[in-house]
Amino acid sequence: MITATRKPMEEILKSVEPFRKILLLGCNECVTVCHAGGRKEVALLGAALRLGRLQKGQPLEVEELTLERQCDPEYVEELARTVDQYDAVCSMACGCGVQTIAERYPALPVMPMVNTEFMGASEANGVWAERCAGCGDCVLGYTGGICPVARCSKRIFNGPCGGSTKGKCEISKDVDCAWQLIWDRLKELGQTELYSKLMEPKDWSTARDGGPRRIVREDMAL
Ligand code: SF4
Ligand code: SF4
Repeated sequence: MITATRKPMEEILKSVEPFRKILLLGCNECVTVCHAGGRKEVALLGAALRLGRLQKGQPLEVEELTLERQCDPEYVEELARTVDQYDAVCSMACGCGVQTIAERYPALPVMPMVNTEFMGASEANGVWAERCAGCGDCVLGYTGGICPVARCSKRIFNGPCGGSTKGKCEISKDVDCAWQLIWDRLKELGQTELYSKLMEPKDWSTARDGGPRRIVREDMAL
């Protein structure tokens, strides 16, 4: 899922300074799962905003709403009838949600309330770790299901660099070397021959380096 963390309160208060009435908008998907922008976080931030502005002697009217998804036009359309009532939308969704709202309601300022982080998996309660960088040409089938793009600090493709020590990455003793993990997993799977397979230089044009990407599924168009 896409992970996010709430922006610092000071930054949030500064960004809403020009406004008197805002719609604080959560999203029921990824940001709910990572406890950054779901219904609960909307309520907490709403209360903190009201209080913060009262303390400054500039009361702020905050209406709270959480959409099923903010990155999907059919849910964003729900706001069409009421959106004129607000000076701004303060979105607690990831950057995709913020931009979907901004595109649909161009006359309305849309302020991000969270920092969108990475595509991650839950390692434990309250711990998320980067697992995929969306490279557009998945190699997990050759690497024991461990991603060298997202998990190797240097994004290398043919075994560890010289900095790998005792299974840890040279950037920190707390970070596993992705290529050690790949080797261990391939051994477990009885697929060590994949480790010796020379990987061709990766074509990064399918990744973000090739420019903004689109997926078009004609079979799904109405
Ligand atoms: S190889 Fe690419 S698509 Fe596959 S997990 Fe890694 S970044 Fe994601
Ligand atoms: S030590 Fe391992 S994870 Fe770190 S950069 Fe080198 S190969 Fe990648």
